[in-house]
Amino acid sequence: MDIVTFGKLQQISEQNLLDIDRAKREGRKVIGFYCLYSPVELAIAARAIPVSLCGTKNDPIEAAEKVLPRNLCPLIKSSYGYAATDTCPYFRFSNLIVGETTCDGKKKMFELLAEFRPIHILQLPQNQDSGKALSFWYQEVKRFKERMEKETGVIITDEKLSDAIRLTNKERKAKKVLMDLAKTKPSPISGMELLTIKFKTGFFMDKRLGITLMNEFVEEIQRKALQGESPFNPDTPRILLTGVPVGIGSDKVVRLIEKGGGNVACFETCGGYRSVFTIDEEKEPLQAIAEKYLATPCSVMSPNPGRYELLGEMINGFSVDGVVDLTWQACHTYNVESYSIGKFVEKNFHLPFLHLETDYSESDTEQLRVRIEAFLEMVRG
Ligand code: SF4
Ligand code: SF4
Repeated sequence: MDIVTFGKLQQISEQNLLDIDRAKREGRKVIGFYCLYSPVELAIAARAIPVSLCGTKNDPIEAAEKVLPRNLCPLIKSSYGYAATDTCPYFRFSNLIVGETTCDGKKKMFELLAEFRPIHILQLPQNQDSGKALSFWYQEVKRFKERMEKETGVIITDEKLSDAIRLTNKERKAKKVLMDLAKTKPSPISGMELLTIKFKTGFFMDKRLGITLMNEFVEEIQRKALQGESPFNPDTPRILLTGVPVGIGSDKVVRLIEKGGGNVACFETCGGYRSVFTIDEEKEPLQAIAEKYLATPCSVMSPNPGRYELLGEMINGFSVDGVVDLTWQACHTYNVESYSIGKFVEKNFHLPFLHLETDYSESDTEQLRVRIEAFLEMVRG
């Protein structure tokens, strides 16, 4: 399907680096983030520019393996490799890196990243259900606020924080409306198109531009849907992709599912539905931020009940026909959790479930293609 708004997305993406460069020369600070647990509102409230540094490409992994063990998650190796080879412009722009103690590999990698940039580590609790975890996390968020104030020279008032919350909530809502387009059967937008829009707008310096553009995508695609246009047909298997973060460059499984005749109708991932929970605008802002971020349903939490709840909601909401759980190699938390996720999907929804473990290389593409096509056959059956 020909969506003209993609032209505009490309244009703004190309302009974005120039805009950040100019803003930096005018004195604004750039803060690099890696994880959905890191509250970007604190950077926005301090007039800094938050950028995402999560590595999604295979290119820098060889260089990373000179320092990091080979049997480590490709996301960690790619992120480190970009920093070590100085090949990511967003890393180059960053004045400060924000890391967090999520999985073992990532938190130890951050210790090594400190060689390249000043780093602030958020100590993340490992569970979400005790008041103790929340009060500890609240103090961590407060410590980060103080670091941002020191770094930028800007005092973060409640008013500035509330403005930042309103802006990011607006962005989350726009993203949700965009993703919800795929609730229509057949979906008027492919999983690869959704992934591209979410991924690229995620880098925009001006979040307002991203919100406007997502709204334009929605308008255009809705118009086409009304005329009956869709890349799929009513029998196309609708797949929910769950698990590790995926982006452009680490999209192999999404591509294979859609080339094999399926549709990735929804993403229970960090760039997908996990990122659309809004922050309570009525509460004291720092407390509301702490609560929202701690509730992120990632497998690094033990237990991780939010993921099951979210999966249930999405399976029903998107009329899903099958679930694919993606784990990056050597990601122990998602790998172990996959067993319970599979049982949950099969027992409660009687849906076919496929667990895939892979990395960012293309070495197993053929093998994956065969497994995915067999799975889609089973879903159709
Ligand atoms: S999967 Fe978990 S650790 Fe990784 S970016 Fe998402 S929230 Fe952070
Ligand atoms: S995918 Fe798994 S191992 Fe990789 S950074 Fe995320 S939680 Fe850690």
